[in-house]
Amino acid sequence: MDIKGKRIYDTLKKMNYIRLSTTEGEQKGAKVIADEIRDIGLEPSFEAFKVPCYEIIKVKLEITEPIYMEIEAKGYGYSGNSAKDGIEADFVYVESAEDIDLIGVEGKIVMVSSMGYEVYERLAKAKVAGFIAPSGDYFDDPKKTDLDERMLRKGHTDYGQIPGVCIRMKDAVKIIKASPVKARITLEQKEEEGDSGNILTQVIGTKYPDEVIVYTAHYDSVVFSKGMYDNASGSAILLELLRYFVKNPPLRTVRFIWCGSEERGLFGSKYYVKDHEEELKQIRLCINVDLAGPVIGRDTAIVIAEDKLCHMIEYMYKEVGHPMSLRHDIYSSDCIPFADKGIPAVNFVRYGAPGAVSCHTRNDVLEPISAKSLENTTRFIAQFSNRVVNAYMFPVEKKIPDDLVSKIDKYLRKKQLKDD
Ligand SMILES: [Zn+2]
Repeated sequence: MDIKGKRIYDTLKKMNYIRLSTTEGEQKGAKVIADEIRDIGLEPSFEAFKVPCYEIIKVKLEITEPIYMEIEAKGYGYSGNSAKDGIEADFVYVESAEDIDLIGVEGKIVMVSSMGYEVYERLAKAKVAGFIAPSGDYFDDPKKTDLDERMLRKGHTDYGQIPGVCIRMKDAVKIIKASPVKARITLEQKEEEGDSGNILTQVIGTKYPDEVIVYTAHYDSVVFSKGMYDNASGSAILLELLRYFVKNPPLRTVRFIWCGSEERGLFGSKYYVKDHEEELKQIRLCINVDLAGPVIGRDTAIVIAEDKLCHMIEYMYKEVGHPMSLRHDIYSSDCIPFADKGIPAVNFVRYGAPGAVSCHTRNDVLEPISAKSLENTTRFIAQFSNRVVNAYMFPVEKKIPDDLVSKIDKYLRKKQLKDD
């Protein structure tokens, strides 16, 4: 089997820069992929779409009483603007934002212990004036770590905008120890839309051209991160699989989609399923690769399909001698919009062991990743692909088990948004 780890690793090197959604870095990453596709002998197509993006013009967090402190802060994108001179209000620490924490918080600036959709929803309903959310680890060295940049998504802003800031955990502890009474948040930002896109190509099946297996991997990264592990690795693995299918023509059509703006909320895959609604009938399975390459780690398949597919993969890894773990569960990546349309999916992931690799930080770099590890994972995906893409009869039923359907609905916050 002509699968070469070195080739995959060399593609990672070409993508070794920050590829944040809607930025030049993301476009540069897309160009690398398009050039590689041409090099393989196929024509890439690019499907552009718009994604929310923002620019913070001014952000400031001050504790104004009983003592004055100015705290390092990043503004939450899409959380709106404060008044020009800021919002000054009583400060309250609401911890987990349960009902008991939220008595009398209307019009106040609240600090939470961590932020999520549910916490935001409760704050919005309690009509707070502003929020402060800590991030990172108390022991982070400010010289060696970046203060996170976060933005509110549609699931948040459906409840309205509350100007908010993100601070370091160490500062959050410092603030609470000082028993603050009043705080001021100043936030000015431009909220707009930027350009992103998917890169696509395919190899038409020689026998069943209308039965399609889709391969997905996102090529964008988060802010501060070169995203070698997350997910230049998956993008490069898809290119190697494409090379394999060009040399070994498949019985069924294999379509490759490198998705943009996954990290901002699965925009690329959501756009694809929306814009190609008619073609979804033909798609039998989605194979998504997100996170691969750590030298120390564990290959894992996360299956969003009937459990027979779990058993098949389990028998197969034993048969071919590829140690791995299996989960019958959903996975937060580009497989979700496909699974939401009833298309079964398998995610191939090589999780780094704790501490072996870093994700969503400036430390997601090339060094803890090896060509050999990338090759091992890709080889197994190619072997698995051979079984299903070239099967005498397509073996995977086009159905998502009910328990996973409810998990997907919950993940996409369908019920919450409908109830309100
Ligand atoms: Zn990822």
